[in-house]
This record gives sequence, structure tokens and C-alpha cells, in this order.
Amino acid sequence: MTKYIFVTGGVTSSLGKGIISASLAKLLQSRGFSATIQKFDPYINVDPGTLNPYEHGECFVTDDGAETDLDLGYYERFLGRPTSQANNVTTGRIYQTVIQKERKGDYLGKTVQVIPHITDEIKRRIMLLGQSGEYDIVITELGGTVGDIESLPYLEAVRQMRWNLGQDNCLVVHLTLLPYLEAAKELKTKPTQHSVKELQNAGIQPDILVCRTEHDISNSIRRKIALFCNVDVTSVIEAITADTVYDVPLYMLRENLDRVVMNKLRLREKGEPDLRKWKQFLGKLKNPTNEVRIGLVGKYIELKDAYKSIYESFVLAGAMNECNVIVEPIHSEEINDESVVRKLSKLHGILVAPGFGERGFEGKVTAVKFARENKLPFFGICLGMQTAVVEFARNVLGLENANSTEMNTDTEHKVIDIMEEQKIIQDMGGTMRLGSYPCDLKRKSKVQQIYKTTKINERHRHRYEFNNAFKEQFEKAGMQCVGINPKTQLVEIIELKNHPWFIASQFHPEYKSTVEDPHPLFVSFIQACIEYENGEQLDLFE
Ligand code: GLN
Repeated sequence: MTKYIFVTGGVTSSLGKGIISASLAKLLQSRGFSATIQKFDPYINVDPGTLNPYEHGECFVTDDGAETDLDLGYYERFLGRPTSQANNVTTGRIYQTVIQKERKGDYLGKTVQVIPHITDEIKRRIMLLGQSGEYDIVITELGGTVGDIESLPYLEAVRQMRWNLGQDNCLVVHLTLLPYLEAAKELKTKPTQHSVKELQNAGIQPDILVCRTEHDISNSIRRKIALFCNVDVTSVIEAITADTVYDVPLYMLRENLDRVVMNKLRLREKGEPDLRKWKQFLGKLKNPTNEVRIGLVGKYIELKDAYKSIYESFVLAGAMNECNVIVEPIHSEEINDESVVRKLSKLHGILVAPGFGERGFEGKVTAVKFARENKLPFFGICLGMQTAVVEFARNVLGLENANSTEMNTDTEHKVIDIMEEQKIIQDMGGTMRLGSYPCDLKRKSKVQQIYKTTKINERHRHRYEFNNAFKEQFEKAGMQCVGINPKTQLVEIIELKNHPWFIASQFHPEYKSTVEDPHPLFVSFIQACIEYENGEQLDLFE
């Protein structure tokens, strides 16, 4: 039978529930259990797909086309297993389902209420993953902070699940903060006591307390927390701030979080955790022999979370190459003909980021031109590929004012255009080309050598596409269409001849880069940047 673990948060937001959940899942996975993680977000949007990146950070996309919270990116990077629609649910989605059922008459004349109808729908969604029979353990992260009005139905659902399933099958991990007062030279436990009381008010006694702290927690503090919060001393877990999120599973191992969980859930020991690959990765991450500086050209750069999976893919691919990757965020609105040399000439490669809308687009075009002409390694993702196509059309093919119809609907040369089936769409939510699509790679292309195969599947999130009417013209002039969707013939990857590394994809490779399997395009791009840095503009592909 599947066991359920709930992770709640108290005192403040941003304590890292996602990382703690992913670390616990990793430890259980390394002990031979199959584990997955899901996240419940208490906001009313049906999914984060329509949210501005400044508001919510990156929107992570799953194979089955769900637009989700960026924590799912961590779940996948840590566990190396894909997540799906069922792994991220919002209050909006819950209400949408309940209201649709009400309209169909499924409630047979009953008054529809938060309890039991909303809480039943929450419980149904919690158990969906467990019922698939695939997992020994389902970890459910509850977004928000205990005490928020909007968290209440979730806490009630958890309370009921504990009652239904019993303590051996269901436990609650509460993540809290121990602030340190410099003047008193003390870690304070009162906020933790209060947040546990808040949980108890909702009828939930947490089983394990994971305490975020900047200082070691002494035994006497552990005992004090245990006594006042009604938990075992061994269930008070220290979560000290780490250098990198990838240290956290090992910190949790040292604190025996996995063992405490296994004892409480009566999970039988299957042997010691196998974390060899993880430790190898950390060894490389912490002992780089090279260093490169990469420009991330985008318009949401003020907020690091907006490009979370790209930053993390650089960390993972850097480690694989034993290379410290310094990512320099560059605002595309600040790039123009005058500033471009100053902004880009000290870099060893640039990545032009995904994005929507006109703002900052021309700066991206100027950045691509610089990379193409100076043989600086260039990696374009989604809008980054579309930018590369527009730049090539204007400056190599001489198609003056060529553009994407997203930026200018009346442009004379529509080298990037909206898909036919997108033209009739009116709703913005969940209507892009989303999720995993197959792609055939051209033999002997650079990408085929990088992927070491000709058939790949990658995840998409966009409305606009390369316009195939121009394909021949581009290929003749040296921009090769090397990745093609076998069903629709849409161009998914382009690469340049006579350039050491100029590759761009319509899909998002950053969504599929994991600790134990960093994405080949990122790994190869870093290699090209290292060679550029060494002054060896070697052709990696000869
Ligand atoms: N705005 C572009 C499109 O919709 C690119 C989207 C993206 O970069 N994710 O096609």
C-alpha cells in the first residue's frame, strides 16, 4: 500500500519546502523505494501558465503538457523521473472540477460546500498518484504557510486522510524557522511553537519538525522543541543553510530524516542508501578545473526564478565538465549597437532565453548577430531560436525587416509565424503547443553527434513556429534545419554551418536536465564555451 507524507510550512514562506521534499524523496529512492512528489498551490489560477514570470518565476512544463510550479523542476532534477499533470494542483483547479460537477448535476441537489466537497476533491487528487500503483511513497507539498486562510481546506483534507489511513501510513513533516538573535546569541523556538499550535488548531499533530537555521541546533534546543511541540527528540531535524541545494539530501541523511520517516511509516529497510552518483556529481561540482562566463540574455533577469531551470541546467552541465559556470544575466533591453561589444565581448558564450512579447526583442537580435559574427558559442531556446531565425533572415538573407508575427503582425517577411490551429484560439490558459513532441535529427548534424541518436523527445511551450516557406532559402545560406517534427514537419532545431557552436531549439531542453543525466545540449554548449575560453576555436564536431 502507498504511504503518504505531507510537508507543511510554518513561520515564513520561502523556507525551501520543495527542496526538503525533493531531498527526502531522493533519500527514500536511494534506499530502493519508488517515490514521487506533488505540490498543491493555494491560489485561484487554474495553473501558473498565465502568470507573469515576475509574479511566479518560471513555469515548468511536464511531458504531458502541464504548466506547473517551478518546484516540479526540482522534483525531476533530484529524482530523475518525469512528473505529470497530477503532480501540481491549484485551488483554482479543485474548484473548477467541483463547479463542473455541480453544473452537470452530479451532486444530486445537495448544497455544495468546502467541507466535504472541496476537501473530498483535494483528497481524491492526493490519492490519484498513490492509486496508480507505481509508488511506495507519495510526498505532498502544501504550498503557502500554515495560518493562511487559503490553506485551511488542505489542512482539513490532511487531517481527514490521517484519520482514514492511520499513523503507519501517513505522516506530517512540518518545516519551520529558528531565527537567531544576535544580541541574545540564541536560536529562538517560539515562532516554531506557535506555528505548531496553529497546525494543532487544525487538528494536526506534526510527526517531524524540520528546522531551518543558520546555526547548529544544540541538544538542549532540540529537547525544548520536542517537549513544547509534542514530538520525539529524534524527530527534530536540523536543516542548516547549505552552499547549494544539492547538499541538502546529504544533510538530511546526516540528520537521519529518512530513517525517522521509515520507522514511523514502518517501511522495511532495503539496505543502505545508494548515493554514489549523487556524490560523484557533488565532487565535480565542488572541485571545478575550469571556469567560463556565460551571458543569459533575457528580459526577466531581475528575478532569478524566472529562468530557474536554465540556471540549474548550467550548474548540472558545468559539474559534468568540472567547470564553474558563471552566469551573467544581461538585460536584452539594454543591448543595442552601441552597447553590444561592451556587454558581450568578455563572455565565453551566450544563451538567448525564452520569452513572450515585443519588449527586449530587438536587443536579443543584436546579441545573436554579435555571437554569429564573432563565432561566440550561441545557444537559443524557444524565443531564442526564433530570434536567431529573424537575425539570419535580416542580416544574411537580406530580408529587410523580417520578423516574427508575434512582434509585428504585418511584417513583409514572416519568417516566424503563428500556427494555423493557434489562429482560432481565444483562451490564453493551457492553449499553447505544450508538452513532449518527437523530433528527428538530421544525420551527421552537430545535434545528432551531441545527442548520439536521431530520435528525441523534447518539451514545448509556444505558439509561434519557423515558417517552412523559407526553409530552402535558410539552408542554402548555411542555417540548417536539423531537427524536424516527423508528423508536422515543423522545424524544432536549427544550427549554423561555419560556426563552432550555434544551435537553437524551439523546445525547452532545460526542463529535462537532471542531476544524474544533465542535458546533452547544455553539456556540449559548456564544452564549446571552455574551448572558446582557451582560445581554441576548435570544431568540436570534426
Ligand atoms: N513567444 C514565443 C512563442 O509563443 C516563444 C515562447 C517561448 O519562448 N517559450 O512562440
